[in-house]
Amino acid sequence: MIIIDAGHGGKDPGAIADGVKEKDWNLEVSLHQYEFLKKLGIPCKLTRKTDSDLSPDKRSELVRSSGATVCLSNHFNAGGGSGAEVIHSKYATSAFAKSIADALKKVMPVRRVFSREGSNGKDYYYMHRLTGQVETLIIEYGFLDSAVDRKKLNVRSYRFQLAEEAALAAVRYTKGSPIYFVQSGAYKEKSRAEQLCEELKNKGYDAFVKQEG
Ligand SMILES: [Zn+2]
Repeated sequence: MIIIDAGHGGKDPGAIADGVKEKDWNLEVSLHQYEFLKKLGIPCKLTRKTDSDLSPDKRSELVRSSGATVCLSNHFNAGGGSGAEVIHSKYATSAFAKSIADALKKVMPVRRVFSREGSNGKDYYYMHRLTGQVETLIIEYGFLDSAVDRKKLNVRSYRFQLAEEAALAAVRYTKGSPIYFVQSGAYKEKSRAEQLCEELKNKGYDAFVKQEG
């Protein structure tokens, strides 16, 4: 079981930059991850499905009681910088965080993988402190206030690509086994790829177009 956490929500917008509230993008990529994993037959849950308030206690309680072994807490960064970041608990090894970072690297440069300690010597972030046995990662899919990142992030399919890579890395980590995809065509022209995708969908297959390079 994987639990997906859309960071912030309700009264707490998270970062705001250039017309985007972080909580909205967090929710959107989280819902996408959820649907994506469901299609693959992977059991998963969400901490929130709407723009709702979640206190640290409530959010972490949802994670602890989910029955999940891992949690992806989805965020977008702000404050100067660019690229993705993956933050793990100081009590965990960096293995899971690194596997997510390696997957994200296919789509976006990764700035750092790290853990952060508070002044009391415990984990700085409550998502690490309060989520018990569930191995929780905070994933920052780039910076909302970076022109370089925003040029790419403004495209929804790009955000979804990041979300899918993270979700797949979580599946590989939890299952320890590969996932097999069936490819049915490769084109230089996007329109032809979309045409084949439509044909497959009309025939009842789950299909999507993925851009490489
Ligand atoms: Zn955030």
